[in-house]
Amino acid sequence: MPGGQPGPQRATERASALSEPARAYAELADGNRRFVSGAPRHPNQDAEHRAAVADGQHPFAVIVGCSDSRLAAEIIFDRGLGDLFVVRTAGHIVGPEVLGSVEYAVTVLGTPLVVVLGHDSCGAVQAARETAATGTSPGGHLRTVVDAVLPSLRRATAEGVDDIDGIVDIHIAQTVEMLLGQSPVLADAVAQGRCAVVGVSYRLAAGGVRPVTPVPAGAATLDVPAAPDGPAAPAAA
Ligand SMILES: [Zn+2]
Repeated sequence: MPGGQPGPQRATERASALSEPARAYAELADGNRRFVSGAPRHPNQDAEHRAAVADGQHPFAVIVGCSDSRLAAEIIFDRGLGDLFVVRTAGHIVGPEVLGSVEYAVTVLGTPLVVVLGHDSCGAVQAARETAATGTSPGGHLRTVVDAVLPSLRRATAEGVDDIDGIVDIHIAQTVEMLLGQSPVLADAVAQGRCAVVGVSYRLAAGGVRPVTPVPAGAATLDVPAAPDGPAAPAAA
C-alpha cells in the first residue's frame, strides 16, 4: 500500500489512547482549542494517512451536528480522515436514518463517544420559534425540520427560556435525550460504559465549543477561553 501503514506499536498506542469516552472527549477539546487559537495542526489529512485508513475506519467520535455550513466538524475540532463519523441534519434533528447511522458507528465501529453539536443563532431553531409564534408552518419538507424542533420550543417555554441561544441549549439537551431514549442500543452502550453522549454548543463567531450536558467523568473540560479573534468580532448574524 502506498505510504505504508502506521507501525503496529503506534497504531496500538493510538487505539488505546482514544478508546475511552473521556479520552475521546479530551481529544475533541484539544482540537477545538487549536482551532480557536488559530494554530490548527490539520492532523491525518496527508496522503500517507489517507492510504493507511483505506482498509478500515476506527473513528473516535460520532458527531450529530447541524448542517449549518459554518459548522464543519473536522475543521472546528482540527481532525482529519478517519477520525470523526459525522451525521448532519438541519437543526440536528433525529430520525430513523440518524439513529441507524449512530448505532452503526457505536456498535460496528466501536466508537466510544457521540457528540450532539448545535450552535448559536441556529436557523432551524429560529424557524421553529417563528412557527410557534405565528402558528404558520413552512411548506415542503422544511416543515419536518420545524416540527422536530417544536418540542424543544415547548420545553423552553415551560422553563421560562425565551432567548434564542437558551432555546438552542435546550434543543441540544433534548437531542441527547432523544438519541438515548429512541436507541436502546446506544443507551446500553452508555450504561456499560463503552460510550458516552454529550451535547455541546458552538459559537459561530468565536469558534469555541462548550458542553451543554455532562461530560464523561475524568474528561478535561471543553470550555475554551475567549477567542483571540478580537474584541470587534461581531455577534453571529
Ligand atoms: Zn443550525
